[in-house]
Amino acid sequence: MATVIDGKNLSEEIRAEIRKEVEELGGAHPCLAAVLVGDDPASAVYVRNKRRACEATGLESIQINLPAETTQTELLQQVAHLNQDPKVNGILVQLPLPRSIDPARIASAILPEKDVDGLHPLNAGRLLANEPGLYPCTPVACIEIMDRHGFQIEGKRAVVIGRSEIVGKPIALLLLHRNATVTICHSRTQQLPEIVREADIVIAAIGQPRFVKGDWIKPGAAVIDVGINRIDKKLVGDVDFDVAVERAGLITPVPGGVGPLTITMLLRNTLRAFKQQSESRKP
Ligand code: NAD
Repeated sequence: MATVIDGKNLSEEIRAEIRKEVEELGGAHPCLAAVLVGDDPASAVYVRNKRRACEATGLESIQINLPAETTQTELLQQVAHLNQDPKVNGILVQLPLPRSIDPARIASAILPEKDVDGLHPLNAGRLLANEPGLYPCTPVACIEIMDRHGFQIEGKRAVVIGRSEIVGKPIALLLLHRNATVTICHSRTQQLPEIVREADIVIAAIGQPRFVKGDWIKPGAAVIDVGINRIDKKLVGDVDFDVAVERAGLITPVPGGVGPLTITMLLRNTLRAFKQQSESRKP
């Protein structure tokens, strides 16, 4: 029977560390600006949760709501304004954006030092080169979960299912930099079950409910389920949890696994961005 990760608890532990670091700043409050375009209710909830998490850790947050008809040019102007505002340390543009706006174009417009989602090409390049930078929050959360539970990554066989820019690829790079032997699988991969059966670490980032079957899991493996899928108003992950939990050594549930940690990594990135910006302003 696996250790089931309590993402909320772990998240609280790390948020307490962040809160303490903020208190040590002597009255300064790192500030996250969240931009919400349109009125997608799920996005509104995500932004609200991020702002609440900021408040609970002593970070400041501001929210900019733009109508669904906002053009790419208008959003770029808003980003430019936040780039110039010295009070703002981190900028987050909530995805998805209306179809007429190219998210990559927006990510490239955010100053790399304020890019707390880690989506700017410069930060992606830093991750590729294993140089310090702001890295995407969900991938960092996956590593944090294993580290905080003493699961050794070095030398292990890791299988990442999903190759998106925001989750799959960065997780694969982080695992590689930690000396895992990494296989990236995707929608065209053949014999996926056989590949997963060899894995000491399975990261599922697909977006299909219970896609990874429990009997694919190697006994003792770490199973990190990034997927968030809605079935009959219930949230489920990409892994068939009920069977996988019997075989894995460590497993994250959905909800309550990776999700809370992702927001916490956003707070940590905002604090890091603040510190880096203060450092670079010093004469
Ligand atoms: P995406 O749609 O961009 O990518 C999905 C990936 O899954 C693709 O690379 C695709 O090749 C792969 N895939 C699709 N079908 C497959 C199949 N049959 N076999 C193998 N691979 C297949 O999604 P994303 O943005 O990477 O997100 C993935 C999931 O993670 C979603 O459910 C999303 O909601 C969730 N997510 C969760 C968090 C969190 O905080 N927990 C954060 C971001 C994303």
